[in-house]
Amino acid sequence: MNGSRNFIETIIDNDLQNGFDPSKLCFRFPPEPNGFLHIGHVKAIVLNFELAKKYKAKINLRFDDTNPENEDQKYIDAIKKDVNWLGYSWDEECYASDYFQQLYEWSIKLINEGKAYVDSQTSEQIAEQKGTPKEVGKNSPFRKRTVEENTKLFKQMKEGGVEPGQHVLRAKIDMSSPNMLMRDPVIYRVLNESHPRTKNDWVVFPMYDWTHGESDYIEQISHSLCTLEFKPHRELYDWFLDQIVDPKRIRPKQREFARLNLSHTITSKRKLLYLVENNIVDGWDDPRMPTISGLRRRGYTPESLKNFVRAAGVAKRENVIEMSLLEFCVREDLNKKCNRMMVVQNPIKITITNLEEEHEEALVVENNPEDSSAGTRQMVFTKTVFIEREDFSDNPPKKFFRLSPGNEVRLKGAYIIKANNVIYNKEGVVEEVECTYDPKSKSGSGSEESKRKVKGTLHWVSSTKNTQITIREYDRLFEHPAPGQFLSEELHKILNPNSMSVTFAVAELEMCKSEPGDSFQFQRKGYYIMDSSSNPKEMVFNKTVSLRDNWKKQKPQH
Ligand code: ATP
Ligand code: MG
Repeated sequence: MNGSRNFIETIIDNDLQNGFDPSKLCFRFPPEPNGFLHIGHVKAIVLNFELAKKYKAKINLRFDDTNPENEDQKYIDAIKKDVNWLGYSWDEECYASDYFQQLYEWSIKLINEGKAYVDSQTSEQIAEQKGTPKEVGKNSPFRKRTVEENTKLFKQMKEGGVEPGQHVLRAKIDMSSPNMLMRDPVIYRVLNESHPRTKNDWVVFPMYDWTHGESDYIEQISHSLCTLEFKPHRELYDWFLDQIVDPKRIRPKQREFARLNLSHTITSKRKLLYLVENNIVDGWDDPRMPTISGLRRRGYTPESLKNFVRAAGVAKRENVIEMSLLEFCVREDLNKKCNRMMVVQNPIKITITNLEEEHEEALVVENNPEDSSAGTRQMVFTKTVFIEREDFSDNPPKKFFRLSPGNEVRLKGAYIIKANNVIYNKEGVVEEVECTYDPKSKSGSGSEESKRKVKGTLHWVSSTKNTQITIREYDRLFEHPAPGQFLSEELHKILNPNSMSVTFAVAELEMCKSEPGDSFQFQRKGYYIMDSSSNPKEMVFNKTVSLRDNWKKQKPQH
């Protein structure tokens, strides 16, 4: 996806060269609606949707909804929203559950041909007989059931007369196959669960392997792309297709690519669900979550996520991508798009002694130096302003280019000031710094003084004409670089206790015009997005990312 062809495109191009009709190319993205989509899914989405675009082919969004125990309409809705937000739309919205009748009929065909049987053992017994990769499995005592017996029992399963676990339907393949998945896989089980779509119409539910390939065939998907862990399933995928395929129609091909793994991040819906259900995070869209909805709330843009998965590439081998690449991509995108804003988080008061008490001067400042079409805004310059406490030192170390007694700095977009006198409180903490400003040094005025070079430029906010905002800052959720290695129940042991902190800040008045979803660069601090929880009384901002990479530091930064 990186300008050059990826190996999937090479496969497709070869197929086309060998005579495959380009108008028959068809792709799908097949999520199970059992959770929200995460950053790993972005890779599969971008891969499939970009292929559809490139080859002008059809693409379906298929919900692989065969396990009603974990599935929910809210997940279906969230998945659609996320795919759309990434900028993609699909040709058909499909559901594996719409194929339940067809799948049922095909399994009757398997039974009639002696290729499927009802097993009445417990799941433990079945597992025991599976054998190991080194040891062949044992045939079930029920493997020799007659077609009539199997037909009768499978009908009973379908009619609801059978308890979950009492019988299952298995494909009769080969209990000595070196591929464990070919050892008579279960293809149907009974579940007493209401399905989000079929409600109580069906109590027998097809298993993933039986459903997936046949759904691809029904939809005439030409290239069925999945992640590497499904490679051993390919043999079974092909066996199932062999049983039903009409040679005049398209026979789907399964091809595998490497999962996207991201350092410090979990990409398993089951584990993400654990975080949500145990209130370790505040819902699926918590800005610390690697879900698309969490990343969106955190301030990531569709372009930044797409650029990230492109940069990570489509490969045949598993690897782990560093978090700093994801952050690089969002920083790069936001740098182009975001207006700048001045915000002071830990203020110290500056009094400009050579200004009148009531001085109020409107200054025109540039919104985004990267984008001249972004225009300008006004800031109010007053006798007292705030700068960051860390931008002043009364005992500056060497190479301290910010404000210190006797030294000059520029207030960004305003004037050069010089610190003359420091006022301390009773505890000896700096309370205020008295400065003078150079009236001829106004930024952008064109005067000689305006071009005068000083070592530092500081952001600032008027201490009287400002607005207060709430800032939520985030750090890694897990201290361990590979949290995916841990079981759900162990995750609490590697949580970063400081993954979120809340502070207040003063911002320039212009901020009052912003709306939830607006992103800004707070100058010299990072990128921030106004959160949906904001209201006229409280403006809340989520920090998306800092201006510079700080993943090189191994420890959390608190
Ligand atoms: P999870 O382990 O998070 O539940 P899954 O594979 O069970 O993942 P699905 O909803 O079945 O989730 O995934 C839909 C599609 O997304 C599949 O084609 C799957 O291969 C792909 N996918 C899932 N996780 C990743 C990942 N980390 N990187 C790339 N593709 C992924
Ligand atoms: Mg899956």
